[in-house]
Amino acid sequence: MKNFIFIGAPGAGKGTQAAMVKQDLHLAHISTGDMLRAAVKAGTELGKEAKAYMDAGELVPDELIIAMVKERLQEEDAQNGFILDGFPRTVAQAEALQQMLEEQGLKLTAAVSFEVPEEVVIERLSGRRVCKQCGAIYHIKNNPPKQEGICDKCGGELIQRDDDKPEAIKRRLESFKADTEPVLAFYEKLGLLRKLQADAPAEEVHRKFLEAFGD
Ligand code: AMP
Repeated sequence: MKNFIFIGAPGAGKGTQAAMVKQDLHLAHISTGDMLRAAVKAGTELGKEAKAYMDAGELVPDELIIAMVKERLQEEDAQNGFILDGFPRTVAQAEALQQMLEEQGLKLTAAVSFEVPEEVVIERLSGRRVCKQCGAIYHIKNNPPKQEGICDKCGGELIQRDDDKPEAIKRRLESFKADTEPVLAFYEKLGLLRKLQADAPAEEVHRKFLEAFGD
């Protein structure tokens, strides 16, 4: 059983890689960003609280996120291995996760850091489009849909996330440096940090991931 954490700046390709690894290794893909977006769409209490933070490119408070992940990790599919994508993003979240794993008798395989230069991240985020209906991810230059503005998979409308707009991108990168870089140090101390150069096409990064962790 394999349990991964995917860490990387926004736009480093965590979500795309997680979707590929999920297929290959049959793991549960737990994306806190996707869960929050679903909560916003459904209009739940959590969604209402989280929306303003998300639109501004700021982190949602730790206690909300930790409670959400705790519940999710208890679901059945997570018992056969998981990828946590976008969590933990603060040291407080990382500490809470260690405690949850201990309580459930689970261990992390690795905390994988997807390393991409900042200018590449900005280019990726500003060109990113997502399907409003199924969440599939595109890029206007690197991975365009067959027909502009329309999802190849489900025919849904492609939109730009509010937090992929320039002001929010800037704040998300600042938050990554201030809040999430210390998380890398946290896992380094535990001997669990693995760095992966991710400034390459998705298939190539995926191949490198499988070489390192796929057996
Ligand atoms: P993402 O899709 O992972 O970039 O997440 C989108 C937004 O959701 C972030 O900019 C945050 O506002 C919020 N979010 C997602 N995961 C977390 C987390 N672990 N802690 C705090 N906020 C989060």
